[in-house]
Amino acid sequence: AAETAPANASAVVPNDLEPYWMPFTANRAFKRSPRLVVRAKDMRVTTADGRTLIDAIAGMWCCNAGHNRDPIVAAIQRQAAELDYVTAFQHSHPAAFELAGRIAALAPGDLDHVFFCNSGSEAVDTALKIALAYHTIRGQGARTRLIGRERGYHGVGFGGISVGGIVPNRKMFGTLLAGVDHLPTTYDRERQAFTKGEPEWGAHLADELERIVGLHDASTIAAVIVEPMAGSTGVLPAPKGYLQRLRQICDRHGLLLIFDEVITGFGRLGPCFAAERYGVLPDMITFAKGVTSGTVPMGGVLVRKGIFDAFMRGPEHVVELFHGYTYSAHPLACAAGLATLDLYRDEKLFERATALEQKFADAVMSLQGLPGVLDIRTVGLAAGIDLAPHPDGPGKRGYAAMDEGFFRQDAIVRVSGDTIALSPSLIVGEDEIGEIVEKTARIIRAVG
Ligand code: PLP
Repeated sequence: AAETAPANASAVVPNDLEPYWMPFTANRAFKRSPRLVVRAKDMRVTTADGRTLIDAIAGMWCCNAGHNRDPIVAAIQRQAAELDYVTAFQHSHPAAFELAGRIAALAPGDLDHVFFCNSGSEAVDTALKIALAYHTIRGQGARTRLIGRERGYHGVGFGGISVGGIVPNRKMFGTLLAGVDHLPTTYDRERQAFTKGEPEWGAHLADELERIVGLHDASTIAAVIVEPMAGSTGVLPAPKGYLQRLRQICDRHGLLLIFDEVITGFGRLGPCFAAERYGVLPDMITFAKGVTSGTVPMGGVLVRKGIFDAFMRGPEHVVELFHGYTYSAHPLACAAGLATLDLYRDEKLFERATALEQKFADAVMSLQGLPGVLDIRTVGLAAGIDLAPHPDGPGKRGYAAMDEGFFRQDAIVRVSGDTIALSPSLIVGEDEIGEIVEKTARIIRAVG
């Protein structure tokens, strides 16, 4: 037996935290003081040492229907027992088509085709590739430039970090995609501080797209990608009128407009997609997270009819788009997605988010005036609270806030840098909003 054992079998120790290289995590600090969760239900999670915490961030902006909802769990179990997998290339299974139809029906305008993948990062790279291929098949192959935005987050694929605007996510990874330009961020604390919903100031920043088009010429630009509300860099909603202006400029110059709705999709801002809230129809929408309420990985791209139709030419036996994933439209993800969409509909969770927005905003804004609070932004059921950086360096106060929440205030909050983000599940009750805000106040006082 010793001969067939793996070389380092003796190194395998149960519950050894060392072998797992954790994503976007301070590994050494975590392993000294692990934040381990073993169970979850609705708005709460249970830690490995048996404490119950309120989850103020819906997993990670994904469990929009709450954790471990019975109908979703049952659907996944049923599907696992019936069909684990079928190749996604040249074959499929019925739930994939049903889910595509259900998502298309929730999307505005003629965004009526869905390409499935497994994450937000894959959704972004898929959308960028569709944009490039679309121009090529129409004889405009010189349109290769992609435009993102400072402080944008579009996942971690090479496409996503190229159009993304977060310095640490970009600076270690070489030259990235060539021919990418960036719009300026829409955030300006001096002019927007403590705004509920969309800031009044900033629509004119969309006109920077005209400048970029003037610099490169429209004939070299394929697409513009933005989050309607930048989530990962601290909840930065688009200023009033900004997305409309982007749409007009894209139309003027034949650029495709992509909304990255990985966070805003499935009710975070009220309507199923933020495109509907803002009354702007993009050419593609990327989604992930909320589509399965975080239960099974899934992402996708909603595409307008004209884009899909442009590909449906040529000999019928030939693959139209050389792109896809082994697990595109995985049966478990599709089953989870269908059950999740049923819950959103039956429990009217998107309407609930709209109804709660003002109460949530008022409650979170009550934190204004606490020590070190520099700004608070709210939109839909999302809030960003900027704390003054600790004199020892940026990120230190944020890290302390996360630890304080997990270990002492029984709350999971998300931090990026020194910004606390709150994004509860759409099932959140008014009492739970009160609890989240009270615990956040205690966290802020403790680290202030
Ligand atoms: N796009 C946006 C707007 C996101 O917020 C995220 C993740 O938070 C992603 C893409 C990447 O998604 P994933 O982590 O599933 O790859």
